[in-house]
Parts: sequence; structure tokens; C-alpha cells
Amino acid sequence: MKKKLSVIIPIYNEEGNIPALFERLSSVVSKMDVEPEFLFVNDGSRDNSIALIKALAVKNTFVKYIDFSRNFGHQVAVSAGLDKASGDAIVIIDADLQDPPELIIEMFGKMQNGFDVVYAKRRARKGESFLKKFTAGMFYRILGSITSVSIPVDTGDFRIMSKQVADIVKSMPEKEKFLRGQISWVGFEQTFVEYDRDERQSGETGYTYSKMIRFALDGITSFSNFPLKFASGAGFVVSGFSFLMILYALYSRYILKVYEPGWTSLMLAITFIGGIQLISIGIIGEYISRMSANIRNRPLYIIKNTNID
Ligand code: UDP
Ligand code: MG
Repeated sequence: MKKKLSVIIPIYNEEGNIPALFERLSSVVSKMDVEPEFLFVNDGSRDNSIALIKALAVKNTFVKYIDFSRNFGHQVAVSAGLDKASGDAIVIIDADLQDPPELIIEMFGKMQNGFDVVYAKRRARKGESFLKKFTAGMFYRILGSITSVSIPVDTGDFRIMSKQVADIVKSMPEKEKFLRGQISWVGFEQTFVEYDRDERQSGETGYTYSKMIRFALDGITSFSNFPLKFASGAGFVVSGFSFLMILYALYSRYILKVYEPGWTSLMLAITFIGGIQLISIGIIGEYISRMSANIRNRPLYIIKNTNID
């Protein structure tokens, strides 16, 4: 029996890319011995994306869609795709053709050799700003050094995984999704293929800097307690210094009997300790806000419309 291959495609204002993406994906799956399922997740696009997707669904029974009630974010869109995908193997791919669909053939091939996850590692990234590449590079390296899970550097969510892995990822209850980390965390046999990341074909990135920062913080807080330990560690070091300073102040006041107005040192100490305190409270706040989101336990996304039963 043919294996079923699900392809999850998160869509946020991609009207300029959907036709070309569909063509390339269709030609890829036609070369493979699989039964395809294309699962478009429309994440509150403000353009004509959903109409294009619905038109494709009318003509092709293997085109499925989930239409969100608003923009919930890329990771949530992919999570919804995972929830509904019915394939034996599941691909996650961006809609803007930065991830070449042709690579799926090689990824699927590696999977047949006994791997559970094959992710795509970027060799080069074209058409992205220096700042984006630099911050992304730094982020993955810092994350790698503060977490015990080895999250591959220079990868996005473009990957293929077995149904078994997808089911485990789906069952993870946390609301803040950092899928590339969660998938690594699962384990099993994972490997990668390398590729050169293309430029976005049409339209512009849906990842604003604020979305990127939130995503980075989700990654760090879900996979590392290092910031919390750093905050308490810094607290200990700073209070150690303060204690020495207290001893010195008392010594110079009562033994040496020399004491200056000391405005500078006072200001330095206050601002320094004040800064450390604010940072520490902020770090704790980041964790607490995520805990409270999990306790509220609202649905991760709301589906307005779908052709999946
Ligand atoms: N995307 C989404 N919701 C968002 C932002 C992006 O579903 O809020 C989709 C987008 O349509 C694309 C993928 O996620 O298929 C990657 O987004 P994008 O290309 O904008 O990110 P970048 O490549 O710039 O990091
Ligand atoms: Mg992109």
C-alpha cells in the first residue's frame, strides 16, 4: 500500500506564492510513490490566500485547509496542521518557497532508510538581512549552550517526520510552541540534509521583530532554566560584593575614622543593584507569564472553517 504523505503549509498573506508552491509541490509528489495530502493552514491572512486555497481544494481532493479565525502565529498554525494531518510521514514547509519543495524527495528517501526525523539544514541564506542572519545565528548558538537538548543550529521548521514523532509532539500540552526544539527533544533517529535557502518568492515576511523576539523567548523558556539560575547566581554574587562593601564602610567609619560624602560609590551601588534586580524580576516574569498562559488553558487556536471532517 502507498504511504500517505502530509504536507503542512502555514499561510499568512501568501497569495503571490500559493500557485507556484502548489505547482512545485504537486510535481514533487507526482514523482514520489505516495498518496499526498496538502494541508494549508490559513493563519488569518488579510489577502486573497484563502480564496486561492479553496479554489485548489475544489479541484483537488487531496487539498485540505484549516482557516483560523485570526492570526495565531506560525508555530500555532503548524501545530494545527500536526493535529489534523493524517499521513504516515509529515512534512512542514514554508509557503514562500524559501524551502525548496524538491528537497522533500531526498528527505523522504532518508526516512525510508530508517530515520524518524529528517530536517533541512541551511547552508546559505539568500535575500535575508544581515541583522536577521546574525541574530538568528547568535540565538541558536546561545540556546544550544544553555539547554541540555541538542537543538540543531541553522534549521527552521522545514522537515519530515514520522507519524509516531508527530503524535508525540501533538500530545505535548504546552501552549508556547517551539516545534523545532520539541521535535529534537523527542529523540529517535534524526538526521539532516543540507540546502541553500532561497529568497522569499513574493510578498514580505510575516515575522516581525516582535514576533521573532517572542519566538526566541519561547524557545529559551521552554528549553532552559539557565536565565533563572543566572538571575539567582547574579543575586548571590552582587550581595557578596555588597556585604564586603558594608564591612569596608563600617571599618572606614569607625576604625579609620575617614569617611567621604561618597555620592559616586553610592549611586553606582544603587543603580547596579537596581539593574540586577529589575533584570531578575523580568526573567521571573517571562516564566510566570508562560505558566499563567498554560493555567488559563485557552484553546491554542480557533478554526473558522475547514474541509477536514
Ligand atoms: N506565517 C504564519 N503566520 C504568521 C507569520 C508567518 O503562518 O504569523 C507563515 C508564512 O506564511 C510562511 C511561514 O510561516 O509560510 C514562514 O514565515 P515567513 O516566511 O514570513 O518567515 P521568515 O522566512 O521571514 O522567517
Ligand atoms: Mg520566509
